[in-house]
Amino acid sequence: MKEKNRKLTTASGKPYVEHENTMTVGPRGPVLIQDYIYHEKMAHFNRERIPERVVHAKGTGAFGTFTVTNDITKYTRAKLFSKVGNQCRVLIRFSTVGGEKGSADTERDPRGFALKFYTEDGNWDLVGNNTPVFFIKDPKKFDDFIHTQKRDPRTNLKSPTMMWDYWSLNPESLHQVMILMSDRGTPFGHRHMNGYGSHTFSMISKKNERVWVKFHFKTLQGIKNFTGPEAEEMRGKDPDFAQRDLVEAIDKKDFPKWALKIQVMTDEQAKNFPWNPFDLTKIWPHADFPLIDVGVMELNEVPKNYFAEIEQAAFAPAHVIDGISWSPDKMLQGRILSYPDAHRYRLGVNYEQIPVNKCPYAVNNYQRDGLMRVDGNGGSDPNYHPNSFDDIYADESYKESPMVLDSNIADWYNRNAPGDNDHYTQPGLLFTKAMSEQDRKNTINNIVGAMSGITGPKRDEIVNRQLCHFFRANVELGMAVAEGLGVKVDEKILQHA
Ligand code: NDP
Repeated sequence: MKEKNRKLTTASGKPYVEHENTMTVGPRGPVLIQDYIYHEKMAHFNRERIPERVVHAKGTGAFGTFTVTNDITKYTRAKLFSKVGNQCRVLIRFSTVGGEKGSADTERDPRGFALKFYTEDGNWDLVGNNTPVFFIKDPKKFDDFIHTQKRDPRTNLKSPTMMWDYWSLNPESLHQVMILMSDRGTPFGHRHMNGYGSHTFSMISKKNERVWVKFHFKTLQGIKNFTGPEAEEMRGKDPDFAQRDLVEAIDKKDFPKWALKIQVMTDEQAKNFPWNPFDLTKIWPHADFPLIDVGVMELNEVPKNYFAEIEQAAFAPAHVIDGISWSPDKMLQGRILSYPDAHRYRLGVNYEQIPVNKCPYAVNNYQRDGLMRVDGNGGSDPNYHPNSFDDIYADESYKESPMVLDSNIADWYNRNAPGDNDHYTQPGLLFTKAMSEQDRKNTINNIVGAMSGITGPKRDEIVNRQLCHFFRANVELGMAVAEGLGVKVDEKILQHA
């Protein structure tokens, strides 16, 4: 219960008598420097913004509950999954990727699907997207790729030329480009899309055996997307469509739900998989790796304060729990480093003490000091380990089986493993197998619309190079895009394809 008749005070607690008039000499001023209250108000206001996330800046989020509905204890010893019926609190942040904080929710873009599970064994973050794959498979390309999704350095405008130039020069992007260009690139808010952990992770069982795992969150609201023209219309009508849709649904108690499922791959299967099972541009076919039920997530609470709980939320693939672990996926390995690094820059080294990020269970370590240390800093307890005074220890029972790697050759050019350069089979299957006739039509229209924005002296070169990729995935697709762009398909393009 809030106390009644509370006094207005400075941040240091001094009651103040007046709120709207500066202290002046005479009724016409000037203003006295001793009006500290005025300085404090303005100085705080001037510092209200923290650095915008360099990607995923526009987002919305909610709290909810995750409930285990199926026994997967043969794969994982994670306490969360130890019993059907177990529950934990979750936080989700949905986002677009390339736009700034004020950009429109219905932009064609992948959507972030970042989750924090507050478990008794620590916070587990699954920081995924609404797509099962990504544009690149090596983290060293990330900054270059993202620059092409942001603004042109001279015009300060988004540039289809930069985007398609980069994609056409990086054919591994094709799979994600096709998903992006389908209507799944403009989902109808956040409730009607799937989420994917995207990377290959691993699970460790009680017997300390490791299997490779992919996580899928299937929307129980059903898939629903905007067509390209509908999304464009909504950008003008309500740029905050997805934020509004989520808040209104939860406020009406129409709680959105997703079914969590996993795919599991053994080491043996990984060795015989036709592609690199740790390649973020590839999926694992459902027929070979069927979805296994795990649980249900329900979102049922709008955060009380957006800045405190969503803007300051910090998710990181580095945050796993016992029984769930990483894989050699290069993108995952890169993100283990870059996400906490970004949070340290944006929120400070003690970002995990911010209430929304804080593990609600015991956290014991010897990290001390640093900017904005607000949790008592370990008090008078020892700040080094080992020591003769406390009983904090490293618990070896949590030790994982070692990850066995299949090579000991360190090199930059490790990219010619079997299937590594097949950028076309899976996009082809997406087009022929996963998409309906209507999906195919809309995808082609969206590609033609987006590629029509390519301009400048390199236009034909970029268009032709990208057309070759579409042809390699599927000839019908290549022909339809070429026709839409008014490009005559000559022998040269077909030969390259
Ligand atoms: P399946 O027919 O068993 O599965 C196809 C999957 O494609 C379904 O999960 C479906 O999701 C999803 N899908 C349908 N339309 C689109 C779209 N426009 N964009 C993204 N996903 C879509 O096939 P396979 O497992 O053999 O995979 C065939 C192709 O399907 C893959 O090459 C890949 O491109 C795509 N795909 C596969 C996924 C996987 O994990 N196996 C996941 C997502 C896509 P839903 O059930 O929600 O409608």
